[in-house]
Amino acid sequence: MEPIYLTIALDTPLDRLFDYRWEPVADVALPQVGQIALVPFGRQEIAGLIVAIAHQTEVPADKIKSVISVRYQCPALLPDWINLCRFAADYYQRPLGEVAIPALPKNLRVPKTTSLERNLKKLAKLPTAQDASASQEPLLNTEQQHAVDTISATSGFAAYLLHGVTGSGKTEVYLQTAARVLAQSEQTQVLILVPEINLTPQLEGNIRGRFPGLQIATLHSGMAEGERLLHWLAAHTGQARIILGTRLAILSSLPHLKMIVIDEEHDPSYKQQEGLRYSARDLAVWRAHQLAIPVVLGSATPSLETWQHAKAGRYQKLTLQERAVKAAVLPIVKIINTEREKPSEGLTQRLISAVRLRLEKGEQSLLFLNRRGYAPVIHCDACGWISNCTRCTAHLVMHKLDKKLRCHHCGLEQRIPRACPTCGNIDLQPLGRGTQRLEEGLKTIFPEARIFRIDADSTRLKGSAEAAFDTVHRGEVDILIGTQMVAKGHDFKNLTLVAALNPDSALFSQDFRASERLFAQLMQVAGRAGRAAQAEGGNASEVLIQTRYPDHPLYHALMAHNYQGFADDLLEERQQAAMPPFIYQALLRAEAKKLETAILFLKEAATCTAQQGITINDPIPMTMTRVHNVDRAQLLVESTSRPALQAFLKEWIATLRSMKSRVKWGVEIDPVDI
Ligand code: ADP
Ligand code: ZN
Ligand code: ZN
Repeated sequence: MEPIYLTIALDTPLDRLFDYRWEPVADVALPQVGQIALVPFGRQEIAGLIVAIAHQTEVPADKIKSVISVRYQCPALLPDWINLCRFAADYYQRPLGEVAIPALPKNLRVPKTTSLERNLKKLAKLPTAQDASASQEPLLNTEQQHAVDTISATSGFAAYLLHGVTGSGKTEVYLQTAARVLAQSEQTQVLILVPEINLTPQLEGNIRGRFPGLQIATLHSGMAEGERLLHWLAAHTGQARIILGTRLAILSSLPHLKMIVIDEEHDPSYKQQEGLRYSARDLAVWRAHQLAIPVVLGSATPSLETWQHAKAGRYQKLTLQERAVKAAVLPIVKIINTEREKPSEGLTQRLISAVRLRLEKGEQSLLFLNRRGYAPVIHCDACGWISNCTRCTAHLVMHKLDKKLRCHHCGLEQRIPRACPTCGNIDLQPLGRGTQRLEEGLKTIFPEARIFRIDADSTRLKGSAEAAFDTVHRGEVDILIGTQMVAKGHDFKNLTLVAALNPDSALFSQDFRASERLFAQLMQVAGRAGRAAQAEGGNASEVLIQTRYPDHPLYHALMAHNYQGFADDLLEERQQAAMPPFIYQALLRAEAKKLETAILFLKEAATCTAQQGITINDPIPMTMTRVHNVDRAQLLVESTSRPALQAFLKEWIATLRSMKSRVKWGVEIDPVDI
């Protein structure tokens, strides 16, 4: 029998595919496109994806190597999945293999097949989940019903923006729409994307309760590799009907996908910030379009990109204006001017009294401070020394509990010095306030209260975030202190006070998206308050913002619960200043030991090209220039036309590759942090 040639995508930075020979063997099926093959590459054996099969190759006979084995055990990946990877590779300017291979679970890619075989066996034995009868569906209100009816009547592609205030019952819309879509056939799959699964364990519980007869796969980065493979296979073989996952789940194989939901679509965690810097939200819309199915983007504070799409009629807007629980009303938002009312221990008298009122009625308070650790920096009054990281453009944060100074960017750790390293002064002072210091202060003000802190430090251990949220839900906490971790979708029933302690810094950030993010974050965290009806004799729900800028329009929009006004104003500013979403951007980043080297590379990159309709800005150091002893600079490229930008980038990147510079560089499309 004649040999055949397999064209294989491999996870390498080389922008090409690789041909390998396959000698047909009697009784062994021929390989197929979409199967995974193990091949020799340099001195290694690595797994690749078969993307084409031919009877000839251009590789000379003495150069071509043979495939080692083909993973027949795993059903082939389908063309629509390969096309998704192709699109992502093209759009984000990466080789196909760099997109497709890392999207597969690691245990499918390793030379050994033991994990694959073990998990396939496990999969075959999985009972279709049946613990209990389905939890009761609440009767939808008119707006929810309209949303469910509209989405589930979709034929073909449609993108919906489900814009609903916090507590308006968006989850219920997802669940009841999913129920209808899943009822269409016994195979139908629904993908639900969430920002972070560990932070919203309630949702997983709700889905399982509502669909006890269906297999549900979860996909997120916190899973052990074996578990990840099992869940991925459940999705890939079609056994799992509901797939709940974080951004990486958008690249999973789903042969019968009929609807995609993106909860909290504005959340920054949908953007991958390393490696392939993709937007899971944008890929979801593309995937839905390709498959001609509906995609639902839900949020109380949509991203301006999505809001603009809705305004332009490309996305259909469905609005939920009121809270779903009858008698649960949006909290009253009040501003406390900290120039007039000076805080002590970070708290103004007014806030302290508000917390006390909650303690008296057995209600919960949430204090939001988006800064973990004890103090963001320590300093010496005598000589002016401050705790800086020696490897980054950043301060070392004081962590009092474990007596450490820690860099939140490179991980550098030191003991808190007993005395100033420069002048010997033993009276070093913490500057500013993090969640640990707030906790300490609160304990002195409210010695009897049950105070609980949730941040990345208190929930480092696996499963501890879920346990922490359970403690709050069980009512074992009076005052909850938290970073942005507590802002996401939690439905705390007994919480009637939310306070934001020090949100001002984002108002003056260089990042033009900072105010959009701050608004979303404050609206989210405010939305945790008053989600149940006010108890008899209980306190009305309130949100208190402690700020030095009480007249800032952002806070005024917040008081009025006026997302739309705020978003429309920002969009107008962005349009006038020619900023996204009215312009398309790409960022060339360069890293080197010395900043000059990185800048020089970017200057060369800027001058090696010119094209009409493309603006190439000057190279600049990144705001946080040095991280872990590496200096970083960037060059922003813009165009009002996405296709023009794409075409330009393709050529430009080819030129940059041919420069063979020693500088480490990368291109990011649609950057969000610039
Ligand atoms: P969102 O995601 O929009 O912030 P949720 O989906 O968490 O809101 O819903 C808020 C609360 O309202 C939840 O406790 C939910 O069970 C409840 N809820 C949702 N829809 C209804 C309804 N139609 N009738 C009664 N309660 C509802
Ligand atoms: Zn000193
Ligand atoms: Zn550092």
